[in-house]
Amino acid sequence: MQVIFAKRARTFDGWTENVRITCVGGKITNLEAATTAQPSDILVDTLLPSLSNLHSHSFQRAMAGMTEVRAAGKDSFWTWRDLMYRFMEHVTPEQYQAIAALTFMEMQEAGYAAVGEFHYVHNQHGGQKYDNQIELSERVFAAAHHTGIGLTHLPVLYSYGGAGKAELAGGQMRFGNTVDSFCTLVANARTRAADTLPSDACVGIAPHSLRATSPEDLRQVLTIADSNPIHIHISEQPKEVTDIQAWLGARPVEWLLQNAPVSDQWCLIHATHMTSQETQDMARSGAIAGLCPITEANLGDGPFNGVEYLAHGGAFGLGSDSNVRISLTEELRTLEYSQRLRDLGRNVIIPSEGSVGDALYMGAAVGGARAMRRNSGRIEVGALADLVAIDSTAPAMFALRDDQILDGLCFAADDTIVTDLWSAGRHQVKDRKHIHRDAIIATYKTAITDLLASI
Ligand SMILES: [Zn+2]
Repeated sequence: MQVIFAKRARTFDGWTENVRITCVGGKITNLEAATTAQPSDILVDTLLPSLSNLHSHSFQRAMAGMTEVRAAGKDSFWTWRDLMYRFMEHVTPEQYQAIAALTFMEMQEAGYAAVGEFHYVHNQHGGQKYDNQIELSERVFAAAHHTGIGLTHLPVLYSYGGAGKAELAGGQMRFGNTVDSFCTLVANARTRAADTLPSDACVGIAPHSLRATSPEDLRQVLTIADSNPIHIHISEQPKEVTDIQAWLGARPVEWLLQNAPVSDQWCLIHATHMTSQETQDMARSGAIAGLCPITEANLGDGPFNGVEYLAHGGAFGLGSDSNVRISLTEELRTLEYSQRLRDLGRNVIIPSEGSVGDALYMGAAVGGARAMRRNSGRIEVGALADLVAIDSTAPAMFALRDDQILDGLCFAADDTIVTDLWSAGRHQVKDRKHIHRDAIIATYKTAITDLLASI
């Protein structure tokens, strides 16, 4: 048991002062307001429900800063894709684990308690299976175990190289599975996760995209989802929209909503290029929009249709996707700024009036938790203790009233205001540092030095 005493906390009903929160077995079991601290309490300044990072490809963190080069005569996506495939050809399971551990640690230090790892590297170089089919999933589990982050593992079905069942080629061979081999992989990953990870972990499924699967494969694979999350990339780039239209006769979101039982069990990653009708239909479906504003800006994808989506009650959460930069505060403000730049207006991502920071943060907390099938996103008895403490005395924050704190977090602060983080009660960030920080960084640096030497 541990008890946290916070000067203030953003509970589900609003701000509460002088709060004692008791956590047992990873959950909040008692919450007492307007009280005083006891000697053994962990003292924090301001306590928030922490967010789930609903979309990550952790290995891509190792490429950050290496792809911002313009190559003569090549398309804008080329430098990124080329390096990603070269990394893919050489990365070993040990290096994969080291990268994932660093990435998860950085997420926790930024204020995320959990991660949705959209995991598509399954095979050896050239496409040969590992002797242990879930070798790389186990590496992700080991990184999650070491860092203590809450894991929603999302093995990816990636069967084709492009729309219309194009064959896999080159670096894509490490991703490939048939539906049958994929179903075995998911079953094995679930057994292994249950044996080795805490009970807040789960294993969902992720058909990679409409272009990397087929309508028949998608139908079949949905039968093994059970009650676990279903994530899919959709409508990220205009070319994907025209390719799917040419192949299936409808735009990607339009096709998916008409041909799959999309509900709040689903998370549609990106959903960047949607018509007004698609936006409204997706909002009404209950699916969560998995928005990755920093990556979408970095890759030049475009802004999400946020205003119309929220006006129709759409749910959303945040993901760091390529992990080119892991920053919760920056992810939040990039989402809002993408809308302001397009609409030439201010204070946009909010369905009615009030604090934009509060709407952004609490919207992402609730939507992210739902996308991860995680009983979190709120400070309430019975919920998981996914909690983050921030320092409201920092220069960027100290002059703000309670009702301005989340505006300060979203627009004025950086992630150094995070002092503590709990993932399902696991107190992994203390005094602004992950408890295994030094060891994780040392292992990472060795792994990347070796990887770059092998490319
Ligand atoms: Zn992605």
